[in-house]
Amino acid sequence: MSEGLRLLVLAGDGIGPEITRAALNVLAAVDRALGLHLHFEHTEVGFAALEAHGSTCPDDVIVRARLAHGVILGPVSHLEYPPPDRGGRNPSGALRKQLDLYANIRPARSRVGFPPRCGHDVDLVIVRENTEGFYADRTMFFGNGEFMPTPDLALAVRKVTRGGSIRIAEAAFEIAMQRPRKRVTAVHKANVLRVSDGLFLECVRDVAKRFPEVAYEERLIDAMAAHLVRNASEFDVVVTTNMFGDILSDQATEIAGSLGMAASLNVGAEHAVAQAQHGSAPDIAGQDRANPSSLIGSAAMLFAWLGEKRNDDRLTRAAEIIEAALDAAIAKPEWRTGDLGGPLGTQAFADRVGALVDELA
Ligand code: ATP
Ligand code: MG
Repeated sequence: MSEGLRLLVLAGDGIGPEITRAALNVLAAVDRALGLHLHFEHTEVGFAALEAHGSTCPDDVIVRARLAHGVILGPVSHLEYPPPDRGGRNPSGALRKQLDLYANIRPARSRVGFPPRCGHDVDLVIVRENTEGFYADRTMFFGNGEFMPTPDLALAVRKVTRGGSIRIAEAAFEIAMQRPRKRVTAVHKANVLRVSDGLFLECVRDVAKRFPEVAYEERLIDAMAAHLVRNASEFDVVVTTNMFGDILSDQATEIAGSLGMAASLNVGAEHAVAQAQHGSAPDIAGQDRANPSSLIGSAAMLFAWLGEKRNDDRLTRAAEIIEAALDAAIAKPEWRTGDLGGPLGTQAFADRVGALVDELA
């Protein structure tokens, strides 16, 4: 196809199908308004794929993801999946690894009119290393990195590489260069994890020297958790290893408002996957209660990335319009979803955002 964009849509488990449907409503509105010629391809991952094809992430999914211009991935309940020999495979992990999506960009931003939970406005981006740490492929180790040498002793291996640390640091500094405050905070626990976080910090410091315009500082993970509550507005770009980034981003987005607003983009050199920060929220699945802002915002991040990659201003504009429509919807208490104390269900909120897209475009 010479014209337009092919986006692979993987609805996932739990609230995945409903927030994906909601996000696609909004994207259809953007497509109508800007003439982007979006082509959505759908295939299954998660329990639907297990039932239909015997695997929660068939190989075909990875092939199609590689061929698409971008991927929209709903949350998956991978902790509930059967073991690998019975078809269980985490689609999120498989895509991150197979497409080498080494950076997980996780913004936390307060929305106009919705008071942040700790009194200060938040506008930060967590740049989480996405392929190493305690989540790495550690198949070279017995038991995939976690093992029990005796029945009373469990050990886990944490993987940090020079290459992985340098490229995540570069991603963070490049993002900081595009932001007004131009500030990077590296978060670590090198006082205890001297070797692994020692290497991580050494690499971030080296990269920092190449970006003299960017202010650079370091925080211990425990102090960082406290500082976020005390004054999250201090922070601009935060770069950290995989597990610390996973935990801090839930904290930061909840301080900014709600996990239901938490967008993210998994990105590598060639590919990007839009994915909400939260999980499949089985407690509210199928009830039209989920806030789809997370996945709608993730799709906006995908458009911003595609706009830059393809040098196409319409895609950049699409991202801006989606963000502005989300802002306008969340600004009105009567247009919010339940997690933000509002009356709207998932689909009604998406309809509202779609209508705002029409108005703003
Ligand atoms: P998983 O194992 O898939 O991560 P979980 O039970 O940990 O599932 P999460 O999805 O991580 O659930 O959500 C944590 C809490 O936040 C749940 O109470 C969930 O209902 C709520 N939540 C998550 N996403 C949303 C959303 N989009 N809208 C509203 N509430 C949400
Ligand atoms: Mg969870």
